[in-house]
Amino acid sequence: MKCKICQREAEEGDFCSLHATAYDNIVKKYEVWRRALKISWKEYLREIAQNSLTGEWARETARYLLNNEEKQDVKQS
Ligand SMILES: [Zn+2]
Repeated sequence: MKCKICQREAEEGDFCSLHATAYDNIVKKYEVWRRALKISWKEYLREIAQNSLTGEWARETARYLLNNEEKQDVKQS
């Protein structure tokens, strides 16, 4: 199983340990952002993907999730 973002070997799930950690942090931080800013998951991911203060791992993970969710939206509509 390879990480879907960087093609490194993934220990479990879809991501390597570095991107899995970044993903966990993104999900946890969203709870805080949502309460404070009332932004959607997608808007939040865009913020992370564009924010120069965000770490490279988190930016890559956010970009991957954005691309993935676009595809899911297409299927739903
Ligand atoms: Zn990775």
